[in-house]
Amino acid sequence: GMAMTKLLEMRQIVKCFGSVRALDGVSISLEEGEVLSLCGENGSGKSTLMKVLCGIYPSGDYEGEIIYKGQVIHPKNIADTEALGIAIIHQELTLVKELSVLENLFLGAELCQYGVMNYALMHYEAKLLLEKVNLSVSPNTLVGDLGVGQQQLVEIAKALSKNAKLLVLDEPTAPLTESETEILLKLVEALRASGVSCIYISHKLSEVKAISDHICIIRDGKHIGTRAADVMSTDDIITMMVGR
Ligand code: ADP
Ligand code: MG
Repeated sequence: GMAMTKLLEMRQIVKCFGSVRALDGVSISLEEGEVLSLCGENGSGKSTLMKVLCGIYPSGDYEGEIIYKGQVIHPKNIADTEALGIAIIHQELTLVKELSVLENLFLGAELCQYGVMNYALMHYEAKLLLEKVNLSVSPNTLVGDLGVGQQQLVEIAKALSKNAKLLVLDEPTAPLTESETEILLKLVEALRASGVSCIYISHKLSEVKAISDHICIIRDGKHIGTRAADVMSTDDIITMMVGR
């Protein structure tokens, strides 16, 4: 068969909040260019698993092992994981509404040339990034004037500007209309074809079935199973999610 390269493995992750065992030995594995969906009821631990991966907990304490591109990593902050090519897009978007698309794209990463911020270069780069996510708005548009779906595309463009190889999308379509959802799903597919892997969290099972290579089910912080998407019906997924 085709040679696959393992991008990420999280082994037996345990994460507690005080006496709450939010993750109780969850393992996932992801090949390069793969879309893996995480399914589970509210509170099952999906976001927590991704926050561990992305170094969002400042204490950095969890049990288990994370192997990324063959190396054990200890994610401690978002900047570190971004530098590794891992980007998370949260349900609550983090763009600054009062700033333009361009300003948001390069916030904290202004392109300098000879020590001077190069606006023309940033404008050019911004246009290329917006093309990559199929968003046809001017880089000068205020983010606050964009719809939620468009803002999400800007978030993804921003991740791509940092050379993300692994995109984590945590319930991205929850606030989107049907047509915005279509656009996002097409983008995930295009990114996958270009070698960007994705971990996708959603409650919408038809969506999950359509875009995933594998589906991982989590219930009460426990790893119930991971299967190829094409051998699972939505009924199978629900049964595993609720445990009957
Ligand atoms: P999901 O994303 O699957 O809906 P979460 O990962 O957000 O679930 O939450 C898993 C469990 O961990 C829940 O019981 C939640 O209440 C708990 N939890 C998550 N984050 C925290 C936190 N920062 N402090 C305390 N408990 C938390
Ligand atoms: Mg969540």
